[in-house]
Amino acid sequence: MTRRTFLKAGLALGLGITAKALGIMPALAKESGRMFQVTKTDEEWRQILTPEQFRVLRQEGTERPFANQYYASKEPGAYHCAGCDLPLFSSDAKYDSDTGWPSFWKPISEKAIGTKTDWKLLHRRTEVHCARCGGHLGHVFDDGPPPTGLRYCINSAALNFLPASAR
Ligand SMILES: [Zn+2]
Repeated sequence: MTRRTFLKAGLALGLGITAKALGIMPALAKESGRMFQVTKTDEEWRQILTPEQFRVLRQEGTERPFANQYYASKEPGAYHCAGCDLPLFSSDAKYDSDTGWPSFWKPISEKAIGTKTDWKLLHRRTEVHCARCGGHLGHVFDDGPPPTGLRYCINSAALNFLPASAR
């Protein structure tokens, strides 16, 4: 969700009109005030995620490069959100970035992901999260291959792979 829509929602609330009445409210994500269709408490997330998935998706952790499940995988299929199962990336847009993390030059759909600015390492990065549950996926950089020039650098722990053969 963009900051602008967030401000709009905030204004609407300030005017005493609920976001629900405006038809834009699925549920309010608790800490950040961002809104996502799938929301759970930390306790609920812990019940369905592994500790590593929880650390990455819910606490914006980063897994170790070259020591994660999918960085070298070339199998055809789709990568779904490990939190809510939304299809996020296709193997068609996966490439070897030599960074040690799964890298994609585009998501399955622009609507599948959201981004926000992240200053955690004291320089500007663009954080990428699942548009449905808000789970942290990784970051997007502008040093990717054509046609987009983008590199979605994604944690394996945030993904569940569904082989094309299984569909
Ligand atoms: Zn999700």
